[in-house]
Amino acid sequence: ATWLGVMGGGQLGRMFVHAAQMMGFKVAVLEPARDCPAGHAADHLICAKYDDEAALAELALKCAAVTTEFENVPAQSLAFLAERTFVAPGAACVSVAQDRLEEKRFFTGCAPTSGVLPAPYKAILGNDDIDAIPDALFPGILKTVRMGYDGKGQVRVKSKDDVRNAFAGMGGVACVLEKMLPLAYEVSVLTARGADGESVVYPIAENVHRDGILFTTTVPGPNVCAETAAKAQAAALSIIAQLGYVGVLCIEFFVLQDGSLVVNEMAPRPHNSGHYTIDACVTSQFAQQARAMARLPLGDVRQHSPAVMLNILGDVWFEGDSDTPREPAWDKILALPGANLHLYGKDDPRRGRKMGHITFVDPTLELAQQNLRAACGILGIPF
Ligand code: ATP
Ligand code: MG
Ligand code: MG
Repeated sequence: ATWLGVMGGGQLGRMFVHAAQMMGFKVAVLEPARDCPAGHAADHLICAKYDDEAALAELALKCAAVTTEFENVPAQSLAFLAERTFVAPGAACVSVAQDRLEEKRFFTGCAPTSGVLPAPYKAILGNDDIDAIPDALFPGILKTVRMGYDGKGQVRVKSKDDVRNAFAGMGGVACVLEKMLPLAYEVSVLTARGADGESVVYPIAENVHRDGILFTTTVPGPNVCAETAAKAQAAALSIIAQLGYVGVLCIEFFVLQDGSLVVNEMAPRPHNSGHYTIDACVTSQFAQQARAMARLPLGDVRQHSPAVMLNILGDVWFEGDSDTPREPAWDKILALPGANLHLYGKDDPRRGRKMGHITFVDPTLELAQQNLRAACGILGIPF
């Protein structure tokens, strides 16, 4: 059998393992934690740090291609792997996506052809930068340049004093101050590009966040007009072409109250907002990643049913203020028409931790939304 490798053992790696195995591949996972969602599903787990050269060499030797499910994998590790096997996405692409400043500079450079700009921003690397912040950037959000996800490493700021406090609070690490924009709604565009430059773009997804974490994804998005969808999809295709990207990549956009489109960030991997593709599209984002890695033709991105995805956080294991987890009523969830329950095999639920998701695939979007509201009721999630 042909082996594919993945750096990272989280739920994205697990769903990749499942998709690749369905296509007949064997999958090796490299991850420091032995007990991890992808490790339990993989054909082989290499338990080592992401920069362990002996482990990387073993992965490269075993696998016809290696990918990453974790955007903060050291870019040098991907470069090391690339000297020994086919790696997609490449180190250079991942390193742009790991650094919010580089990412914004890259998006800005793409703007003449992509037609979209990032939010107005300023790099905050030291106190001199804080003194020089233009008033027009307030109110704003201070974000760490590296490592942030699910809204972690972000502070809302109204003044230079707020920025000084927040910057010190984050230990003085490199940050970027972004102007807070008046959002009408948020969308993401999932794409894939093959080594031969062939590209595909999935239907645009509308996303709702709660406390900085993705709450629901709805496709087709109830707010999205055809013009905005076409503009965001064209921008995403232009960006991946300019990046010379290979593999699955997702770009998040803001749609402002005046209808204009702003590019937020990109994830060099399958994305939480693309989970709906597992149940609602001909080719899931994970099967697509396997195709791109194995340099096979990319798959059909057609969506066959309206879909809504609800993230399941550890919170639903806890009733009220209780500290004792109890299993949610999955039987009631599974009785809802069109329900597809995905749990990631994590044994220790914690509040705020992504434990799984449910995608409702129904004949109409209204039915899917109705079933999602019913699921929220069953799980005790305020809607
Ligand atoms: P992810 O888990 O998607 O990687 P993240 O921690 O990298 O999240 P962002 O995507 O930058 O964070 O921001 C999280 C959310 O905060 C956005 O989806 C949006 O709802 C809100 N947000 C971020 N930046 C802005 C902005 N400039 N103006 C308005 N809202 C914003
Ligand atoms: Mg992010
Ligand atoms: Mg984001």
